[in-house]
Amino acid sequence: MRVLKLRKKDLKKMLEKISSFGELWAPVKKGDKFAFQKIDNLNDVDPNAGRTILPLKKFMVPPRFSMFRYDKDGYHEQLGEVTDRVVFGAHACDINGLLILDKVFAEEFSDPYYIERRKRTAIIGVSCVPDEFCFCKETNTDTVDEGYDLFFSELGDDFLVWVGSSKGDDMVRAAEELFDENISVKDIQKFIEWKKWRETQFKMDIDLTAMPDIFELKIDDKVWEKIGEKCLACGSCSMVCPTCNCFNVTDTVALGKMEGTRDRCWDACTLHEYSLVAGGHNFRGSRADRMKLWYTHKLQAFIGEFGKPSCVGCGRCITTCPVDINVKTVAKTLRGEEVYFK
Ligand code: SF4
Ligand code: SF4
Repeated sequence: MRVLKLRKKDLKKMLEKISSFGELWAPVKKGDKFAFQKIDNLNDVDPNAGRTILPLKKFMVPPRFSMFRYDKDGYHEQLGEVTDRVVFGAHACDINGLLILDKVFAEEFSDPYYIERRKRTAIIGVSCVPDEFCFCKETNTDTVDEGYDLFFSELGDDFLVWVGSSKGDDMVRAAEELFDENISVKDIQKFIEWKKWRETQFKMDIDLTAMPDIFELKIDDKVWEKIGEKCLACGSCSMVCPTCNCFNVTDTVALGKMEGTRDRCWDACTLHEYSLVAGGHNFRGSRADRMKLWYTHKLQAFIGEFGKPSCVGCGRCITTCPVDINVKTVAKTLRGEEVYFK
């Protein structure tokens, strides 16, 4: 892998030079949070931004989009409407979330809508400092070796830039004069020191040891009723989770005409209607059953299929759920600890 150095003061110049690769998006302050937004002014780019409200999935699977239009001549794919983008400021946990979506949408089953957007979206990762809600160390997603085009690691007045793809290499070549190939022993030492310091910044008290076994042992436990009683079935946890990927497909038909669109939008297994079928039967009508499904899928079933949890420790369920149901409180409850939900 090619590794280079970029002076932090040259970041804006570099982003300007790669503007031909697509629209630039980066985290921008929104109240006391951050959200990925299209950047019109490079002064708005903040490499130290915290977790965004929505993760990277919004670029690859937008909350709502049309897959194709149809009329009396047949159907017309709408893949061509996807724009080229460069997303700056992705954190390691979120890139790991994308790797999970790659498994779902681009490996055994190929979703052309996902693949097209993934291909057209360059990802520039940036190293981050965990806040009190991050636990990516516990899920082994605090670093990432693939899934990005460039990754910028902290190095004092510089960034250490890891080139992760041929598109990343093209971006570097477009701004070649800004990069330095000479990584000194002092730089490497500085990088190691920073990594060590970062390790000490994780504050979240969470223990996921033996979670798959605990799920198996507690599958019929009353804790699920307790959690289900508190859940509001709002679906917010699924919307903000980088690895949740359920969707619904609906047709919008023009009245009196032979035309319409087939649309796709985010859905969530935490919602009541999700498992409602024709005739009115609901396979997971109770909130307890839906909570059990969500958490079992994240921390047990996905490991069985893919060898790792589908939780990347981003902390969004912790900062989002209005009644404090999240990976931390569910893990504690399953371990038999007393937890007070809101
Ligand atoms: S389960 Fe929670 S912490 Fe884990 S990836 Fe999803 S939102 Fe992030
Ligand atoms: S767990 Fe929390 S965020 Fe998720 S559906 Fe229930 S109330 Fe909403």
